[in-house]
This record gives sequence, C-alpha cells and structure tokens, in this order.
Amino acid sequence: MQVLKFGGSSVSNAENINKMVAIIKNIKDKDKTIVVVSALGGTTDALINSVVTASNGDDNYKEKLKEIEHRHLEAVKDLIPVAQQSSVLSMVKKICNEMEDICNGVFLLQELSSRTRDRMMSFGELLSSQIISAKLRSVGAENEWIDARRLIVTNSNFEHAVVDFEITNEKIADHFATSTSSLFMIPGFVAADTNGITTTLGRGGSDYTASVFAAALNASILEIWTDVSGMMTADPRLVGTAKIIPQVSYKEAMELSHFGAKVVYPPTIQPVMKKNIPVWVKSTFSPGDYGTLIENSSVKNAGSVSGISSINKIALLSLEGSGMAGIPGFSKRLFETLANEQINVILITQSSSEHSICVGIEDGYADAAKAAVDTAFNYEIETGKVEPLIVEKGLAIVAVVGDKMKSHPGTSGKMFSALGKNGINVRAISQGSSERNISAVIAAQDVKKAVNVLHEEFFETTYKQVNLFLTGVGNVGSKLIAQLQQQHDYLEENLRLYIRVVGMANSKKMLFNDKGIDLNSWPELLKNGEEMNLENFVRTIQTKNFRNSIFADVTASEQVAEIYESILEKSISIVACNKIAASSPYVFYQNLKNLAREKNVHFLFETNVGAGLPVIGTLNDLLLSGDKITKIEAVLSGTLNFVFNNYNGKKSFAQVVKQAQEEGFTEPDPRLDLSGKDVMRKIMILARESGENLEMDDITNHTFMPESCMTGSVQDFYAAMEKEEDHFKGIYEEAKKAGKKLKFVAKYENGKAQVGLQQIDPEHDFYHLYGKDNVVLFYTKRYIDQPLVIKGAGAGAEVTASGVFADIIRAARI
Ligand code: ADP
Ligand code: ASP
Ligand code: MG
Repeated sequence: MQVLKFGGSSVSNAENINKMVAIIKNIKDKDKTIVVVSALGGTTDALINSVVTASNGDDNYKEKLKEIEHRHLEAVKDLIPVAQQSSVLSMVKKICNEMEDICNGVFLLQELSSRTRDRMMSFGELLSSQIISAKLRSVGAENEWIDARRLIVTNSNFEHAVVDFEITNEKIADHFATSTSSLFMIPGFVAADTNGITTTLGRGGSDYTASVFAAALNASILEIWTDVSGMMTADPRLVGTAKIIPQVSYKEAMELSHFGAKVVYPPTIQPVMKKNIPVWVKSTFSPGDYGTLIENSSVKNAGSVSGISSINKIALLSLEGSGMAGIPGFSKRLFETLANEQINVILITQSSSEHSICVGIEDGYADAAKAAVDTAFNYEIETGKVEPLIVEKGLAIVAVVGDKMKSHPGTSGKMFSALGKNGINVRAISQGSSERNISAVIAAQDVKKAVNVLHEEFFETTYKQVNLFLTGVGNVGSKLIAQLQQQHDYLEENLRLYIRVVGMANSKKMLFNDKGIDLNSWPELLKNGEEMNLENFVRTIQTKNFRNSIFADVTASEQVAEIYESILEKSISIVACNKIAASSPYVFYQNLKNLAREKNVHFLFETNVGAGLPVIGTLNDLLLSGDKITKIEAVLSGTLNFVFNNYNGKKSFAQVVKQAQEEGFTEPDPRLDLSGKDVMRKIMILARESGENLEMDDITNHTFMPESCMTGSVQDFYAAMEKEEDHFKGIYEEAKKAGKKLKFVAKYENGKAQVGLQQIDPEHDFYHLYGKDNVVLFYTKRYIDQPLVIKGAGAGAEVTASGVFADIIRAARI
C-alpha cells in the first residue's frame, strides 16, 4: 500500500488537479494506492468566513456561499466530460444546500459552536475528494471513494479532535481487508466522534489523515505532495535563499514542523514514525524534483543544523518570586493551571536560582492564562511569595533544528552571536536535552530578520548579503555607486560579499527597493522616487529591519549627522564621509563611538581626514598594536594646497580660490577651507582618535584671512578678497623672498593642537607637495625621529568615494 496526500494548492483548480491526476496515473499501478486530498485551496477559510459572517447576523454569508458553490461547479465543468457531469454536479449542489441550511440556522440563532464550525469546515474536503474521485474515474482510473468519517474515530474535541487509534485502526483494517479496489480516494481533515458527529483534525490536518491511514495499513510509503519541492532549510516565504533538505530524520522533521515549518502538519510524523514508514515530501508542480525524504536518520545532510523555523504570536508568562526557591510544587501548579485552561505550553525555561519560571504560549491565550494563574496563586501573591504573573505579548520564537547539533559544539554560540550582531534581543532561551532544537524568544517584528540571519549563518556559506542605505548621491555618492557596481562581481567572488543598495536619498527624493535598487538606472529611479523626508527615511530603515545593514552618509548635512544615534541604536553600522558628527562636541562623538561598540557595529569615518588616504585606519592600527602618538604634523587641506600651489601673484588670490571651487576641491562654502576651520576639524578628529579629549575651542588657529573676508555671502567673500589682494600678495612675496613655500599646517603635540600658514624650507617633508596632496606625519613611541608618513591626493570625488567604499567593506565584514 502507498499513501499519497495532495494539499490545497495541488487541488486549487482544474489545471492543478490535472497535474495531480497525471501523477496518480503514473504511480498507481506500482501498488495499491490511497489518495488523500485537501479542500480546494482556500476553501476551508472561505467556509469559516461564511459561517462566521452568518453568526454575526450579516446576510452577506449568502454571497460567500454562492462563490464557494460557483467555484466547485466550475471545477466539475472544467474537469469532467459533459456526459458524466450530472451526478457530480448534483452532489455538489446537495452539499452546498446543506451548507446553506446550516448557515441559515446560524444566522437566525446568531450562535456558532465548535461543533457547527467543524461541520461547516468538513464540506471542503467532502467536495474536493468526490470531484477528484469522479475525475479519476472519467480518465479510466477506477477508484473507491471512502468517507473518512466512517473510519477515523475521534473524541469530541471539535476543531482539534484526537484520534482513537484502537478503534480507528481496527475499522481501517476491516474495511481494507474486504475491499477489492486498488485505488482509494479519501477526504483529508475530517473524522467523526463515537456518536458519528463530524469532527476535524486541526488546520492542516489532511496530512494527518494520510498518516493515520498509512500507519494503520503498514503502507510502504507516505507521500506528501505539495507546492514546494520538499521541506526547506527555512520558510521560503521568509528566506529567499532557503534550500531543499534532501533528507531529515523523523525527529528533526517533527521539531521543524512544530516550530512552524507548515509544509508538514506536526502530528503527522508520529504515527508513521512508530511504524518506520518513510515520508516523502514532493512537489505537484515539479514532480521530477527529488523532494525530501523523512526517515529514521538524516545521513545526507552535511551541516549540524538541518533547518530554521519560527512561530509567531507568542506570549511569555513569567512567574517570579523569592518565595519559590527550593520549594517544590510551584511549577507543577503552574502547569496544572494552564492545562486546566487547555492552554498549550510551547516553551519552558527556569533559571537555576529558581526565582522564576518562564513559559511561552500562544498569544491569544495570554489573558486567560493571566486570570487563571493569578487566581491559582492568589494566596502566594497576597503573602508576597510570588509576584502576579508577568505577561509579555508581541513575541515570537525562532528555532535552530538539527540532529547533529549534539556532536557539534558551538552551535548555540554561533546562533546567539549572529542574533546579537544584528541587534536582535533574546528574551528567553530554551534547549532541550535532546540537543535537537535551540529556541529563542524574540520580538515579533524581528522574526523575518532573525530567520534570515540564522539561515545565512548556518546555510549560506556562499556569500553574505549586505544591505546598504545611502544618503547623498552627489559628486562623491554617484562615484561610490559606480564603484559598487564595478566591483560587484569581484566582491562576490573574492570576499563572498553581496552588497545591494536597498535605499538611497538625496535632499529631494528617496527610494527603496528590498531586492536592491538597479544601479544601472538609479538616477531616473530616484528622480521618480518619493519625496525625501529624513524622519521617514530613518523610520523605513528601522522598520525594514534588514540583517547586515549599513548606513552610509555621503552628505555634508547637519540633520543627517543628527540621526546617527538612532541608527546605531538599531545595531546598524555607519560609514560617514560627513565630518559633522566626528567633529561635533566631544561627548556626542564619544557617545556614538561607545554606542557602536556596545551594539557591536562600526562607526567609520576614514574619509573625514585626507579623503581616501588611510589616515584614521593607520592611526587605529598603531594604537591597537600598542604604539602611542606623540606628535602629528599634517597638511590636511587639499583646497589650501591647491590655492597656495597655484597662487603666484599673477592671477588674483580670489581668482585662484574661485578656480579651486570650480574644480570641486572646496567645501560648498569655501570659507570653511580658507578660514582653516576644516583643517581644525581634521586635526581634532585625529587628536580624538589618538585618545585626546579635544574641542574646537581648544585649537589655536593662526588664520591668514583678513576679518573683512569672512562675513556676508559667498559673493561678498570673493569681492572682499579682491580688495585684500595686497595682503595675500604680501604673504606670498615674503615666503618667496626667503626661498620657501606656503603650507597650511596642522599640528598636535602634548595635548594641544594648532593650525596656521607656515613658510616651509626646501628640506622639509612638506615642501614637495603638489596639486591637492595631503600629508600626515605620525611621530610615535616607535616612529621617533623619522615619522610615519602618509601622503597622496587628499581631495576629489573619486578617491573620497573609494575611501567610503573601503569603510563599507570593513563594516560589512564583521
Ligand atoms: P498544502 O496545502 O500542500 O498542505 P501548505 O500550505 O500547508 O501546503 O504547506 C506548504 C507551504 O509551507 C509552502 O508553500 C511554504 O510556503 C510553507 N513552508 C513554511 N515553512 C516551510 C519549510 N521549512 N519548508 C517548506 N515549506 C515551508
Ligand atoms: N483544508 C484544511 C485546512 O485548510 C486541511 C488541510 O488542508 O490540510 O486547514
Ligand atoms: Mg498543509
């Protein structure tokens, strides 16, 4: 005997039923065959919906019933030749009349019992199985339709009836002993109690029906035909990269299904496991795929973990109190109380201090649990031995499942560090002594992220997906996008990093795409994006709650710098080209650094000093390896270098500054560069990174700019500089006469920092600095006489973008 079960989507319409019929025809001659079917996909929900509508006194139920009837009549017409249709059509009509009678009664009484719900729900499978039976007959596959209610006997626990195996097995054995058929068609999900009243086996219960028959008849195999090619490493609706598991043990399959792998209804495994009957999960839509074989062992799987599952809508109950320690009986009473209320306990943890017992239950039962437990422990609560029951809702469970975890130490370490790195807070943990399942209770809104994080950790050895949110797509930002695009394949091949830009914004527009924005056409896409609103941008990042997220700030905006804290709070790394945060008041800077450390993410701003030059990275490496900075001397303004390298008294100073601005070497307001303020910010950042608590006010600025140039608009500034041409010429001539060059130098030594224009001797490291070069000299405990020198282009969009890019890679590789 072989038992085949086809689920709702496999029988959802004529086209799919034809696929199923082809599969049955193909394998029915191998052995006697039982086919168990679900209702046409969605019917059970539609039936409940109709009867609930009726019970609310809403006569819309009639419309809903009509739709159900129409759908089944259409299926008959599509599937069965006209000549054979009439008996099937009248069967459908008869059942639909019965449905209507029941709903009319419910409508009048406005009362709906579980018993009536079960009666209503049973019609889905009764209809589908008889239609398909007729279809098979019409293509020459003679078969016997069996009303499962005659053979499966349950208690009267409607909607979740429990099978009485003694009677059921006997009835099934008797029936099949006398039947001469070789193909049987049976409705799943439905059964009857000892009085013959219709019951159902719980939502998804057709799998269970099939298992009951397979076990009773010692079938050679139970095949579950569904809409996916097997049991997968995670719910494919949550994890796009979930993979089919070729083989799992019964126990693993049970754990996975109990923890939400809907593909097999959890109680299904038990009856077949007892008889050692293999279960094969296969796809009606790709019958050629291998599927998943569920057997005694899981030999074919390589890793220690077989799958990741989750259950939503969990509430955590905590019974706490100092009066509990060492006194037996508290947990017994707690569980008894919950059992009396028919509340199923999904997860249990107890701290070894015995101060608290924590249980996870279905969210919907939380209020009933609270009332019952508080009543049961009334005396202890009044005498202060325990606290009233603490209830937390809005939670979920994620579970890592695998038989082989037992022999692989480190699985839980890996699991919790992956969750932690992504800012997912774990409320409770449970690991059974079987070591087959490690479960964590987390906030409901983190489920999708958690399942993906864990899936990546345990199954995706191929690459790590990084989700980038980018603000600022001007000069530097657009170069960055081009570099990301160009390096895409390299990163995937060599670093196994798959970076996708899932959000971008400029000051006007913002754009999101969960699958990654197409970088070939981002300018048009962004132009058609929604209006930029920074608050919404941040909220979207937070609610999307993607794993491995990075926020890159390529703006010069103060407002954007202000949101860093809320980004880091969510365990999202920040890469900033924007200097405002790192040069803001020390407490703010320090707070961000601490927050990043606490949340185990990065706050990187290498391009704040020297654009793409590895200045801050080098400084950090020196400190990490135990060196100490004694002095920093640097030329840090690409703008001022450009200006002094090009100014020789022929063109006016103002014209040279203008040229620098036009070539993109200045801040939007060039006075930030000319005043030395930009250099002050940079030396301050270097001093801070060296461990100094320094503010802008602590830095001495020997400015060469006359006061008159620094007020008013940018236009005023150029006009004022023209008027001061003699002043600038004077400075230049003086240096020239002495055979020296002018450089704007920053210096940090003995806790003090200063910036100013200096005349540089030809022997000095700074003398040969051309174009927009920057140079930094680090004097340290190890580099005493000869400093460590970092020199190269310190401005420009391309090199700055590459510095941001390098920071992104650094942040991605934690
Ligand atoms: P059927 O109607 O055939 O009984 P179900 O809808 O009950 O099918 O179960 C199949 C669905 O289960 C799949 O379409 C898939 O979306 C979902 N699912 C959830 N978790 C898993 C998992 N780990 N592996 C495979 N499918 C899963
Ligand atoms: N039709 C029932 C349900 O939708 C049983 C099943 O499909 O397994 O829950
Ligand atoms: Mg199912």
